[in-house]
Amino acid sequence: MPRKIVAGNWKMNNDLSETETLLKELKKQVIPEDVSVMVAPSFTNLYAAFESVREHPIQVIAQNMHQSTKGAFTGEVSAAMLKSVGVKTVIIGHSERRAYFNETDELLAEKVNTALENEMQVIFCVGEELSDRENGDQFEVIQNQLENGLFHISNDSWSQIILAYEPVWAIGTGETASPKQAQEMHKFIRDAIAKHYSERIAKETSILYGGSVKPANAKEIFAKKDVDGGLIGGAALKAGDFMAIINAFE
Ligand code: PEP
Repeated sequence: MPRKIVAGNWKMNNDLSETETLLKELKKQVIPEDVSVMVAPSFTNLYAAFESVREHPIQVIAQNMHQSTKGAFTGEVSAAMLKSVGVKTVIIGHSERRAYFNETDELLAEKVNTALENEMQVIFCVGEELSDRENGDQFEVIQNQLENGLFHISNDSWSQIILAYEPVWAIGTGETASPKQAQEMHKFIRDAIAKHYSERIAKETSILYGGSVKPANAKEIFAKKDVDGGLIGGAALKAGDFMAIINAFE
C-alpha cells in the first residue's frame, strides 16, 4: 500500500519567527495516524523547525540540495549538511527549480543519486507546461522526465522515492487539474513504474498531486484511486488550510 502523504512546500516564505509560529499552530492539531505530514521550510530555518517538531510526527524536509557531496559551490547546501540538521527527505525537480534555475533532467538524475547514496528519501517532481497539455503532449513529457531523471535507479532504491505530479499550469495559479485529469496522469505514472520496474514497486509508491490544492478541492482529488496525497504550496502557509487538507482523505 502506498503511504498517504501531505507535504507543504513553503518555498521562499516564512522567516524564523514565522516558521516557529506556523509550526506552533500545527503542533496544536491532531495529525491522523495514517497520514505522513511533512513541511519544507527554507534552508535557514530547517534546524529551528527540526527542533520545534522533535517530539511531534511532523517531518521537516528540504526544498532542494546540491548534487555534489562538498566543495567550492558558493551558496549551495549538501546532503550531509541537511542530514546534520535532522532532514531525511528532499524535494528534487520542483518545476520552479527546473524553470528558474535551469535544472535539467540530467542534473536532477545526479541529485537523485546523491540523495540516495546519502540514504535520504526523495520527493521527485514531474509536470508538464500548459503548452504541452494544449498540444496533447503531456504523457510524453512526463514519460521523458521519469526516464531521464529517475528511471536509472535500482529496484531497491524505490523504497526511498515518493513521486509528485505537479502540472506547471496549476502551480500557484489557482487553476487545478480536475480530479479526472489528476487520476489519469497518476495512473499513467504508476503504469510506467510497473512497466519499467514491477507491479509491486508501482503499487507501493506514493504518488502525490500538486497544483493549487486547497481545502475546497482536496477531498475530491485525494479520493481518486491513484492519488496518495498532495504537495501543497500556497495553502501550506496557513495552519487551518493545511490541516483541512491533511484531513481531506476519506
Ligand atoms: C508547489 O509549488 O509545489 C505547489 C503545488 O504550489 P501551489 O499549491 O501554491 O500551487
